[in-house]
Amino acid sequence: MKTATHKYLKLSGLEPLIITPETNFVNVGERTNVTGSRKFLRLIKEERYEEALDIARAQVEGGAQIIDVNMDEGMLDGVHAMTKFLNLIAAEPDIARVPVMIDSSKWEIIEAGLKVIQGKGVVNSISLKEGKEQFVHHAKLIKRYGAAVIVMAFDENGQADSYERRIEICKRSYDLLVNEIHFPAEDIIFDPNIFPVATGMEEHRKNALDFFKATAWIKAHLPYAHVSGGVSNVSFSFRGNDKVREAMHSVFLYHAIQNGMTMGIVNPEMLEIYDTIDPHLLELVEDVLLDRRDDATERLLELAESFKGDGKVNEKQIQEWRNGSVQERLTHSLVKGIDEFIELDVEEARALTSKAIEVIEIQLMNGMNVVGDLFGSGKMFLPQVVKSARVMKKAVAYLLPYIEAQKDGKSSSAGKVLMATVKGDVHDIGKNIVAVVLACNNFEIIDLGVMVAPEKIIETALKENVDIIGLSGLITPSLDEMVYLAKEMERLNISIPIMIGGATTSRAHTAVKIAPEYNAPVVHVNDASRAVTVASHLLQEETKAAYTQSLRTEYDDLRTAYLNRARDKKYLSIEQARANKLQLDWDNYTPTTPKQLGVQKIAVDLEELVDFIDWTPFFSSWELYGKYPALLTDAIVGEQATALYNDAQKMLAQIVSEKWFTAKGVLGIFPANQINDDDIEVCDTNGTTLAHFLSLRQQSEKTAGAPNIALADFIAPKATTIKDYIGAFCVTTGFGVEEKAAAFEQQLDDYNAILVKALADRLAEAFAEYLHLKVRTTIWGYSEESFSNLELIQEAYKGIRPAPGYPACPDHLEKLTLWKLLDVEANTGVQLTESMAMWPASSVSGYYFAHPQSKYFGLGKIKADQVNDYAKRRGISPEEAHKWLAPNISE
Ligand code: SAH
Repeated sequence: MKTATHKYLKLSGLEPLIITPETNFVNVGERTNVTGSRKFLRLIKEERYEEALDIARAQVEGGAQIIDVNMDEGMLDGVHAMTKFLNLIAAEPDIARVPVMIDSSKWEIIEAGLKVIQGKGVVNSISLKEGKEQFVHHAKLIKRYGAAVIVMAFDENGQADSYERRIEICKRSYDLLVNEIHFPAEDIIFDPNIFPVATGMEEHRKNALDFFKATAWIKAHLPYAHVSGGVSNVSFSFRGNDKVREAMHSVFLYHAIQNGMTMGIVNPEMLEIYDTIDPHLLELVEDVLLDRRDDATERLLELAESFKGDGKVNEKQIQEWRNGSVQERLTHSLVKGIDEFIELDVEEARALTSKAIEVIEIQLMNGMNVVGDLFGSGKMFLPQVVKSARVMKKAVAYLLPYIEAQKDGKSSSAGKVLMATVKGDVHDIGKNIVAVVLACNNFEIIDLGVMVAPEKIIETALKENVDIIGLSGLITPSLDEMVYLAKEMERLNISIPIMIGGATTSRAHTAVKIAPEYNAPVVHVNDASRAVTVASHLLQEETKAAYTQSLRTEYDDLRTAYLNRARDKKYLSIEQARANKLQLDWDNYTPTTPKQLGVQKIAVDLEELVDFIDWTPFFSSWELYGKYPALLTDAIVGEQATALYNDAQKMLAQIVSEKWFTAKGVLGIFPANQINDDDIEVCDTNGTTLAHFLSLRQQSEKTAGAPNIALADFIAPKATTIKDYIGAFCVTTGFGVEEKAAAFEQQLDDYNAILVKALADRLAEAFAEYLHLKVRTTIWGYSEESFSNLELIQEAYKGIRPAPGYPACPDHLEKLTLWKLLDVEANTGVQLTESMAMWPASSVSGYYFAHPQSKYFGLGKIKADQVNDYAKRRGISPEEAHKWLAPNISE
């Protein structure tokens, strides 16, 4: 039996997009549409496809999760334009990662699109306009092409313009699709028509309201179907007044999402943040959309006049909130993350009650519930929530002495969660963020920190009687630790639900490797915004059983699909793979003799590193996704990103001027040659062997003459007698970080504790970038270059610095060789844990390859024959080798 959760709408470009009940909203980019964008139309007409692609790319970078492509224009050959543009997109991985929505009113154009898109897209749209026969015919073809479909609320009698007509047409369409042709219900997306409001016409007054009602009806009566729409239409009568339009779009979306709309075509630049809409404007807009007053339109028009200037509202509101009630002030401080008045207001609240604990249980929790709701509905972002948590902690700390004096005991919590980074792993930024967000939602957190042994996790879980265990890990050996822990808990008959998170974890790994070992729920949660929903579903009596069951089904299905796919993949034997290695043209290559051979220590002022920072990953660690610097001006998250960036800059200035951390590094460049196909023999200048780097070779069967690569292919084989070289390095900015973070935690300031760690990570990566530049241009000196910071981050230069544990060389044991070769511990203080994680966490290590054709790649899955061969080369047992390479072994 399939359960409800199984029927998610699953789309894909190069990456999947799965719309689950927890998905807040999927926004569809609208700018690659010739009917909506004059610029795009001109580019297509003039066949300037490269520039047209830039528009698509900008949308994806700006956060569009699907891109709508429309070529319906009288003067265009739509079939040709659609085919050509979609083919070009397919060759651009940064665009093709998202699914395509093929938008046309002409079937031949839609079909042209269906023929060329990769992954699973959406057809926009079909309807009963031309009658049942054609509708069914097209739907059958779409089903065969494997796409989802948007169904317009349109039939033989015209477009649905009332609540009744909307539901009547949607119901009829649904029944035809689902019952007659077995179209998957979850692949049906209704567009119940968004029409303009405030037009002055009586019959338009209910346009938005009817849409909301129809949406709710569809969600309730047409199982698994989705609702979408083109949002900008609603504000059509306010063209030229962006301030009002932006507010209308957000308010419309807010209500539509509440009623069950899951996707829509929106221009993110035309969207005001709901929470920051001037309250008066908000009220008038809601009056119009919800048809709350007869004079709603007049009042909004009147106000709109006053916004025609710069659109600014009065500034004196800023302090006005101080005049509100205690509850209002507490809520305001929590939502806005302001700690200036919190003790004052908490004291006022405390004086009003006989029990100090009630201030927490009632007023502060009320405020945090607002925070939770805003975050849950996508109106607040992670950095803000972490700041709210800081205010909450200060409030609680202030009350604690009173509560203890009154011996009230503890406040009731939503549940107890144990959090731990597993044994051998040192990273905890993501885990800390999840802990803060859960704590904000009234969960009690027991954080055991990093490198926690499984025995300690189990012992604490039992002793403290926790409700959930949250496990986190960054590096691949941690995956195995998690599997081990699940097995242990099963053996001990424990049934506490487990949440899994961290960089290398995945839904697939959780489903395939962890869940089967444990009878209680195991769920992969990689973003803080989902953690609260998942934890509540796991614990609440009403949802627990159904949720657990649906998780089971979901993961069982995922596992089966995964294993089937894996089984279908073809592999070569390691001998065959070696026979198909990458053959560089060694006859015409002379390696540059390094200017400085041997090992040297590197010290650098932190200040020098600042310009080398890649900020994009910094924002994603705070769940603000998009590319820096465009992210700072993004319509939806720009304001938050800017606030976070300003805080980061301020702290960075202190880190640098007060020397909070020390940057230490070591690097070495050595004569080296490839031996036995897959290994790299590293020598000193006298020819004495110092070490062997053991590379692993891709084993999946290749098409079209592609080679099976290993890193060793980038180094000249010994037999060529070419004198080639390899480099290795380790850098750290991690010393001093833990102390600073602990000091912030002491001050109940999780926000800055997380910030300082995130910045230390950035500086370590920047150090690696800085040193690589030095190596290329002076120390090894194989390249003369002048790249901008952006070009460096995009790795425009020649040569690579692959890092053990990353896709080309996933073997963490290589770090042992590297540590010995460079005497890393003596030279930098950086140590390896039993899982080969580097401590302190903000450290980076890797190799240097100079060959201009060297490039990053993924090893992919390998077979047992290579694992056994590798065990021999490394002098370890086959079991040991299997353990270290587990995530890369195909079964
Ligand atoms: N600029 C980014 C770099 C992140 S990690 C930041 O500041 O966070 C990217 C690094 O991982 C690369 O510079 C390289 O050292 C390593 N890397 C990337 N792809 C790799 C691959 N396929 N195999 C091995 N190492 C890889």
